[in-house]
Amino acid sequence: MSDKRCEWCRVEYADGRPDYYGSDPQCAFPNGVFRTVNWSCAGLHRLRDDAEAVEVWNDDQHCAVLPFPDSCDFVVLSYYKHRGNTEGAWLVCDHIMRPLTTQDVRAYLQQKADHE
Ligand SMILES: [Zn+2]
Repeated sequence: MSDKRCEWCRVEYADGRPDYYGSDPQCAFPNGVFRTVNWSCAGLHRLRDDAEAVEVWNDDQHCAVLPFPDSCDFVVLSYYKHRGNTEGAWLVCDHIMRPLTTQDVRAYLQQKADHE
């Protein structure tokens, strides 16, 4: 059986889940495209770290918009409280809004790294 987790989950969870995790991580990108069934995906963790610094919220529902440093794209994330599930993840470019892909995550992280 091939490992369909994202590159970040494969590295982060190479030795299984951390002891302090209540449940097993579920990658959000088993086919390279975001799916709503996920828990503590290591790829999304990298975005959630940034998101939680700029999030807005309405009751317990949170939303964050992350601009790409070198392009006109944005990542939009939505999540309940600060739990492991990310309920929504999109790429926004001009009038287009579509589910986030691992390629988008890679591009965002690369552009961010280029600016550090
Ligand atoms: Zn993952």
